Amino acid sequence: MDDATDLREAGLRVTAARLAILEAVRAGDHSDAEHIARDVRAKVGHVSTQAVYDALHALTGARLLRRIEPAGSAARYEARVGDNHHHLVCRRCGAVADTDCVVGLAPCLVPSDTHGFTVDEAEVVFWGVCPQCQVGSGDPRGDGAAKRAP
Ligand SMILES: [Zn+2]
Ligand SMILES: [Zn+2]
Repeated sequence: MDDATDLREAGLRVTAARLAILEAVRAGDHSDAEHIARDVRAKVGHVSTQAVYDALHALTGARLLRRIEPAGSAARYEARVGDNHHHLVCRRCGAVADTDCVVGLAPCLVPSDTHGFTVDEAEVVFWGVCPQCQVGSGDPRGDGAAKRAP
């Protein structure tokens, strides 16, 4: 299925900006809204930051995108949806990497006491230091760009 079909099936209007956002997120690596907005503008011309945020919100709500919000970092977006993968996050530069869920299905952790809740997801973030930062060449700006550098 292509993006336009996905949008229509999600009940969203197909716009050049939304298509460009989906493309930018797919091409990116857990990009934040600022990076996505920059990519989108390079592709379709002026789109306001607010419009990008609104579209990201709609696309996330329609589950075409997934948002992750590591503590202390801007929200990141990814197009890998529909599985229960987790993330490794670098404490120094904020780089994010996917890691498959060892169990496969949510929730992959069970609380010791559910207090009567029905539990459908355990949000797991593995914090540590990425390979680049371990050798001292991580990106101190914290936007994960170092990970994309050649
Ligand atoms: Zn790092
Ligand atoms: Zn991911």
